[in-house]
Amino acid sequence: MEHLIEGYRRFREAEWPTRRKQFEALAARGQRPRVMVIGCSDSRVDPAMVFDAGPGEIFALRNVANLVPPYQPDGSLHGTSAAVEFAVRGLEVEAIIVLGHAMCGGIHALMNGLPGPMGEFLGPWISIAANARNRVLRCDPADAQLACEHEAVRVSLDNLMSFPFVAERVLDGRLQLLGGHFDIRSGVLAMLGKDGGFSAA
Ligand SMILES: [Zn+2]
Repeated sequence: MEHLIEGYRRFREAEWPTRRKQFEALAARGQRPRVMVIGCSDSRVDPAMVFDAGPGEIFALRNVANLVPPYQPDGSLHGTSAAVEFAVRGLEVEAIIVLGHAMCGGIHALMNGLPGPMGEFLGPWISIAANARNRVLRCDPADAQLACEHEAVRVSLDNLMSFPFVAERVLDGRLQLLGGHFDIRSGVLAMLGKDGGFSAA
C-alpha cells in the first residue's frame, strides 16, 4: 500500500500544479462527460488509459466482465443499473461504450467455471452472459475465450436496450450504443461495426 501513498505524493507534487485549473473548473461547473464507458474491473484495462482521456471526459463504470444486467426495476441493489440511469437520465451522455478485453477472468470463469470457493456473488453475476456462452459453444470457434468476450459485449448492448430510458434515446438519436474490445497483449482496440464484427479502430 505504501507505494500507492508515494504515488499520491508524486501526483500532488508533479501533476496537481499542472492540473489545478482544470480541476477547479470541473469542480465549479460540475462534470459533463459526453461518454459513459462500461469496462471490466481488471487492473489492466483502465478506460481513461485506453482512450487517453482526462478528468471529466469519461463517466466510467467498471465491474466483473463489463456486464450490464437486463432492466429489472425490483428494488434490489442494482449498482450497474443505477450508474446507467445516472449517466443517461442525469448526465445525458451521448454514447455508452461497453468495453470488453482480452484474457478476461470473468469470461474465462463463465466458459470454464469459477475457481475455488468463489461464486456466492460472482456466479449469478456472470450468468448475465450465459447466452453468450451458449452461443459460443454452439459455434465452437477456434478461440472460444475471444468469441465469448465479443459475445458478452453484444449481450450487454442488448441488455442496455431493455432499459426504456436507453431505448427511447437510442431510437430518437440522442444516444449511441457502442461495443469495443481491448487486447491487453497487443494494445489494439477493436470496435464493433455495423456488420456485427469487431475490427481494429
Ligand atoms: Zn475482465
